[in-house]
This record gives sequence, C-alpha cells and structure tokens, in this order.
Amino acid sequence: MDIKENFNLAQLTTFRLGGPAKFYCVAQNLDELREAIGFAEKKNLAMFILGGGSNLVVSDSGFAGLVIKIEFRGIEILNDNEQGADFKVGAGEVWDDVVALGVLKDLWGIENLSGIPGQTGAIPIQNVGAYGQEASQTVQNVEVLDLQELETKNLSLADCGFDYRRSNFNTIWKNRFVVLNVTFRLSRAAKPNLKYIDVKNYFAALANPNPGLSEIRQAIIAIRSKKFPDLTEFGCAGSCFKNLILTPEEYLRLEQNVAKNFALEVKNRLIELKHRFAEEGRIKIPAAFLIDSLGLKNRAVGGAKLWENQALVIVNTGQARASDVAELFRQVRQEVYSKTGMQLQSEPEWVGFNQEELDKYFKL
Ligand code: NAP
Repeated sequence: MDIKENFNLAQLTTFRLGGPAKFYCVAQNLDELREAIGFAEKKNLAMFILGGGSNLVVSDSGFAGLVIKIEFRGIEILNDNEQGADFKVGAGEVWDDVVALGVLKDLWGIENLSGIPGQTGAIPIQNVGAYGQEASQTVQNVEVLDLQELETKNLSLADCGFDYRRSNFNTIWKNRFVVLNVTFRLSRAAKPNLKYIDVKNYFAALANPNPGLSEIRQAIIAIRSKKFPDLTEFGCAGSCFKNLILTPEEYLRLEQNVAKNFALEVKNRLIELKHRFAEEGRIKIPAAFLIDSLGLKNRAVGGAKLWENQALVIVNTGQARASDVAELFRQVRQEVYSKTGMQLQSEPEWVGFNQEELDKYFKL
C-alpha cells in the first residue's frame, strides 16, 4: 500500500484550501482499507475518511494523522423488474454519475439530486437532499465497516435514523463507520417532483407540465448552475449553513427578534415563509433569508466571500486561507445570532482545527 507523507489536501477538496495530511493513502477495497487502519493503529494516528472532498474545510495546518481516500468503485443493478431496480453503488463512485445512470435506465427517485458534487458514500451521511428529494426516500441499505469492531455490517433504512440533513452517521455514530457501498431502490413509475418553485417556473416557461426524467435532470443542472458557483472558477463547499428547522416556540422567538431588529417587510416575509414551509409541527426557515436580510451577501474576509447568488455559500476567490473562511463563517453566525437569536449550524465538516480554533470560530 502506497502511504504518502505530507500530502497536499487542498487539491482533493472543492474548497481548494487547507494544509497537508501527515499521511495519506487511497483504499480501493476492503483489504486496503483494513491495511490503512492497521497502519494508523500501529502509529497511533488519528484517521480521517475522505470521499469527494466537497463538504470539507481543512485547516491551514492540515491534518496530523492519516487521511484515507475511499475509492471503492462499481455500480451493480439488482432486482431489475417492472416496478424498478436497485443500484448497489461503491462509496467511491461519483454521485452525479449514479444519477445519470438512473436517468439513462429510466428509473425514478434521484433525478432531483442531479449536479450535487461528491461521492456516493457521502449521500447517506447527511441525508443529502435537494429540490424535494432526499437520500432517505431511496436508500435501502448501507454496508459499512465498523471501526470499533472492525467488522462489516449491513444497515437498513430504519437503522440510518434519517432526518433533515442528518442521520445516525453524523450524530450518534459520528466517525464510527466507514461507508463501503449504498443500495438505492429506484422506481419505473414516473414520479416527477416539481414542487420547488425554481423547478415549477422552469417548466412553466417551457410550457411543459409533464417533463420526463432527462428533462428534469437538465432542469436541475441548469437551476443549480445559476445559484452555485462554477467549481472550475471558484473553490467552494456548497452551502456552509444549514436551514433552520424550528419548533413553534423557537419560531415565535425568532419572529419576536425579527420584529424588534428588522424592517416590517422582513417580518412580513418571515411570516410568509412560515406558512409556506410548515410541515408536521416544524417550521423550516431558509438560513439564506436571514443572511440576506442582514445585508451580508458579498461580505468578504481575505480571499473568502459570501456568494452573490446564494448567501449560504462561501467561495474561495483564489487565495483564501481556511482561517479566512472560518472568520467569515464566524461573523455570519455571530450577526445572525445577535439579531435573531438563532444559532446557524455548519453544513461542511471542519478538519484539523484544534480546540482553540474551534472555540474561536464556533462559540457564540
Ligand atoms: P431554494 O430552492 O432557493 O430554497 C430555499 C429554501 O426554501 C430551502 O430552505 C428549501 O428547503 C426551501 N424550499 C423551497 N421550496 C420548498 C418547497 N416546495 N417545500 C419545502 N421547502 C422548500 O434552495 P437553495 O438553497 O437554492 O438549494 C436548492 C436545493 O438544494 C434545496 O433543496 C436545498 O436544500 C438543497 N441543498 C442541499 C444540500 C445538502 O443536502 N447538503 C446542500 C445545498 C443545497 P430545503 O433546504 O429543505 O430544500
């Protein structure tokens, strides 16, 4: 196994910043993964499992342990029948290739997740979702390596504990399992999900009320490319803040703070959003709405900047350091907190930051 030292991690992340890994290797199968884990144990190193690097902020000092890049490949099509088929996908497969294959095979269920960067292994971790579809609707099974027992396990949908952008993997089991492959159940029955306003408007403009799979895929890619920066031009890790999912009591506190600290039109818009996105006793408020209302769009620290078309996104305009991103992240959270009382949660993972830095950038 080829273990490299002082390996540049910036090139492996879509943010394109951060320091090196002390040790780095690629695992293409279970044997290589076990060998890498053995190396880390022998040298008493911390481990970090890397996928597509699209949801990470690596600190400027890098990661002082072993980074293992997962490159398990292969898509198996199982249980193919009139109802649908299952895709058993290696964790290292590029997610958008899986979506493209689903569309090509005329299978429904993941088409609205087109254009999301990263690898398949990351999809169940935060129950990735977009435009009304999310992992929990199609994931059947997740095969993992348990790092405590060093055994593989098959986890069912129920085991995953999916919720809005969360699962047991990123909460109670954080860092316990390495995802090896994920099985998705896709359907042959047409189930276009056009409820998101951008998608609805796109097809209304084309006077096409019944788009097919590849038209939906095209639409989502076009909509995303307007909102999210071109990754060949800017470094970025997608949205940096999660949307708020509030209880009625939490919402009330937010509305009171907004009434106190913002213009009346902001409060009116908040009430509109409350009605629009209320679901099962919870109220979803887009974090971008709060950030925009504070006039923070385009705020910059060093080479890091809030993206003009989507305030949830921090971009690396060229020479950003991780400390610029972290400071901008801190400022946004601090301003949102002081004016609304809401604590925005980070969507990306922060790698290699020491406790002092975490306190500096995350404490409100
Ligand atoms: P958007 O479509 O402008 O929507 C902004 C906000 O409104 C989001 O909170 C979105 O909720 C909500 N929303 C819009 N239409 C809705 C509807 N019909 N029903 C319920 N909620 C609705 O969002 P955006 O920021 O440009 O992102 C586009 C999509 O990509 C969104 O679905 C977003 O969640 C998703 N995304 C996902 C991830 C991830 O999985 N990690 C990262 C970035 C963006 P939702 O957030 O619940 O969709």
